[in-house]
Amino acid sequence: MRLTSHGYTIALPDWIDDELSDVPDTIPDVADRMALVHRLADRNWREGNGGPFAALVAESETGRIVSVGVNVVLGSGVSSAHAEVTALGTAQRAVGSRDLGGPGMPAHELVVNWRPCVQCYGATMWSGVRGLIVAGSGPELEEITTFDEGPMVADWAEQFERRGIRVVDGVLREEALEVFRAYRTGVDRDGVVVYNARGG
Ligand SMILES: [Zn+2]
Repeated sequence: MRLTSHGYTIALPDWIDDELSDVPDTIPDVADRMALVHRLADRNWREGNGGPFAALVAESETGRIVSVGVNVVLGSGVSSAHAEVTALGTAQRAVGSRDLGGPGMPAHELVVNWRPCVQCYGATMWSGVRGLIVAGSGPELEEITTFDEGPMVADWAEQFERRGIRVVDGVLREEALEVFRAYRTGVDRDGVVVYNARGG
């Protein structure tokens, strides 16, 4: 046989550089880091790259931004191209290591605009980050957007903590919901695609 494909690329959309042009290299306050994530998430769905989801990887101590990620499932045609996956992958490339918690490295954290889905739960756990900062973790994401986040374990935060990954929940929570609601309005009004709303 001859394979049709020998690989794939998950790349950030072209507008990212433009959106980051006024963003400093270091964002010391975690709420400000989350505000950037919300801004990217909102632009992402409007640009048609994928769902209203964004993430970034920062050095926990200093707030230096190592990478950002957005959901590019629609743009890339790859179902695993979630914001967490793109942020973690580009961070690993940026630091030159598959382990963001490697020896001699500063502690890294992943900042996301909601609790990761089942796929990104694993991707975050294996990435080497030492912290996970989310805007929220309740059923609101699925209720508002209709995305299926999969069968998450009830003790997901505890499982992270057990592996030395600190979890902070509730950073700019209401602002996250505003982005989801705007997205939902776009779905209802303009037929924006919810690509995995099969609901199991
Ligand atoms: Zn995900």
